[in-house]
Amino acid sequence: MLKSVRNTPARILIVDDEPANIQVLAESLPGFDLRFATSATRALELAMEQAPDLILLDVVMPGMDGFDALRWLKAESRTQHIPVIFVTTMTEVEDEERGFAYGAVDYIQKPVSPAIVRARVRTHLELKRQRDLLEEHAALDGLTGIANRRRFDQELGRSWHAAQRSGLPLTLMLIDVDQFKRFNDYYGHSPGDECLRRVASALDHAFSRGEDLAARYGGEEFALLLAGADGASQAQRALAAVQALQIPHARSDSGLFVSISVGVVTTLAAPGTSADAAMSLADGLLYAAKNGGRDRAEVDNLITGERVTVQSLPSSELPS
Ligand code: GH3
Ligand code: MG
Ligand code: MG
Repeated sequence: MLKSVRNTPARILIVDDEPANIQVLAESLPGFDLRFATSATRALELAMEQAPDLILLDVVMPGMDGFDALRWLKAESRTQHIPVIFVTTMTEVEDEERGFAYGAVDYIQKPVSPAIVRARVRTHLELKRQRDLLEEHAALDGLTGIANRRRFDQELGRSWHAAQRSGLPLTLMLIDVDQFKRFNDYYGHSPGDECLRRVASALDHAFSRGEDLAARYGGEEFALLLAGADGASQAQRALAAVQALQIPHARSDSGLFVSISVGVVTTLAAPGTSADAAMSLADGLLYAAKNGGRDRAEVDNLITGERVTVQSLPSSELPS
């Protein structure tokens, strides 16, 4: 699921060591989701945890100052795209230049005028929203509206690094619609497109938990990136989600309806392994599922060494 563009009020992090200054800024910004920090170190923590849309950052603070905080924010991938406006009493041109050089988007001088704060904040939030929308658009597959391969590869890289740090397992799935060429040949290309849209939507809904991601990987192929080690039950869920659509496929050798074959790898992002290698393995397992008769998943759990075949349940046993 894509959710980088929120429908809720914009979240603004206000950072100043003087609570009275925070209060003045807060009163200038009614209607926003405001968060506060009275030190740079706390601000960095909140920026990581709460993904604010904008940061209003004081320059002179005891301990880490605003310049250092900004450098840190720009060096960290999770915070580098958050626009930062400096709010400061410093009036030297060099300071202002230094702020822009480090990547601040704007500069507001204290004492602040509430109307100017509001206007500048609105401008930068709107720019950020447009950028987020563009980015979200570039991450979507044009036909199905779910994540595209570019987004999947990005997320896979990110999740792989996170799993290296956390030691938590990941499950990757490659899915290919069975005998889809015959489907197109028999029903036509437009019904083929509609079938892909329905399969995509079913997978996207079945795997909408937390950080899980369903993507269109190519033509009639989909990829899933899932947290956790329950590859076999997740494969069962994918098979069932498509089966439940009951899209007639009169030329299928696997049954009356459109089905999928799936390659599943559960792994730890341990040293000596790579996301690419795990994807190749999933591809090999998908190929094995095709050769084994389609409408099934081949699941390899690299953590336990277990390798199982998961077949779709008869329709009568599907959870309703
Ligand atoms: P298998 O079970 O072995 O996967 O057989 P298959 O026919 O699904 O595999 P093959 O790779 O031979 O054919 C894939 C077909 O998917 C061919 C192509 O026309 C169709 N396809 C790929 N992308 C699209 C699309 O965007 N829309 C439609 N309608 N068809 C597509
Ligand atoms: Mg294919
Ligand atoms: Mg296919």
